[in-house]
Amino acid sequence: MISIFEIKKEDIKLGFKSAGIREYRADQLWQSIYVDLSSSFDEIKTLPLEAVNYLKSNHSFSPLRLVVKKKSKDKSTDKYLWKLHDNNLIETVLMRYDEDGHRRRRRTVCISSQVGCALDCKFCATGQQGFTRQLTVGEIVSQVIEIKKELIIEEGRSFNNENNLNIVFMGMGEPLANYSRTLEAVKRLNDQKGLNIGARNITISTVGLVPKILDLAKEKIQVNLAVSIHAPDDETRSQTVPINNTYPIGDLIQACKKYIEITNRKVFFEYVLLHGQNDSKSHAEKLGKLLKPLLCHLNLIPVNPTLKSDYKRSNSDKINAFREIITKYNIPSTIRMEKGIDINAGCGQLKSEFLNL
Ligand code: SF4
Repeated sequence: MISIFEIKKEDIKLGFKSAGIREYRADQLWQSIYVDLSSSFDEIKTLPLEAVNYLKSNHSFSPLRLVVKKKSKDKSTDKYLWKLHDNNLIETVLMRYDEDGHRRRRRTVCISSQVGCALDCKFCATGQQGFTRQLTVGEIVSQVIEIKKELIIEEGRSFNNENNLNIVFMGMGEPLANYSRTLEAVKRLNDQKGLNIGARNITISTVGLVPKILDLAKEKIQVNLAVSIHAPDDETRSQTVPINNTYPIGDLIQACKKYIEITNRKVFFEYVLLHGQNDSKSHAEKLGKLLKPLLCHLNLIPVNPTLKSDYKRSNSDKINAFREIITKYNIPSTIRMEKGIDINAGCGQLKSEFLNL
């Protein structure tokens, strides 16, 4: 049976109509599952019995079943491993950030968009698992719903989306390789009569699918774009990011320029620092020159080492020296606070651990 979270409201209305149920009941259902966050059809008290029975005989509820939840020692990070209807596994991470002088207190949910990934980035546990299938809209959105339920238990009903909740498509998979479902999921997350998460609180991350970046620029949605650049030149980038052989760095930067021109929005570049691979002063100089003309922000991310990869984390002196050079080029940058290393919070790592990959 297809999960109710896969169905657009208009289609729920059509289903209700054909079963002789008044269409406005679809609005009540929508409110129950996306605002009140009911956990089963039986919990929905606003619907008549005939509507509940119709739903139970035609739809399943959440498409996610929890397999493992791990909490980091400092309690800032929870990682969830979910089983899907076909027994595939995906991960979601919840990160809690306290106010730090620069940014307010916030909660960030890192969601998956695919089972596995075909792009094979060399430092990534998901890339090492290969690609299995695209996630559906319901499977993407339900990750947020399940975590939001937990946050409400933790923080109370007054938990405020607008100010506190960020969604990042940085879990398993390349969201722009699952383009139409990712966009439909963004609409669902953003729906003011549903989850009502502001587009500016949603970030889509890509490792550099140039044509899709250009498509996204034309979508007229206010989401943030994060581009995983990870190196300032083709030779270095192609060693860890094979898609660079299809869309080299010059094309990627051109696409980002175009994106900024069309949307007037900054691009967030992500740079995973790998000891001895991309973390030298000369890499930093090249990166500074490359990004200086762009409206952008750079996130420097010390790698979460994976079992199968030889890449090690850069030491803190190197990270700081790298950032100093970037600052010289007037590029705003952050060293991303590391979260959940003790629970394998890096993309794909919990699944690898669970399956002994
Ligand atoms: S880093 Fe992202 S794009 Fe690259 S293999 Fe991992 S999930 Fe795929």
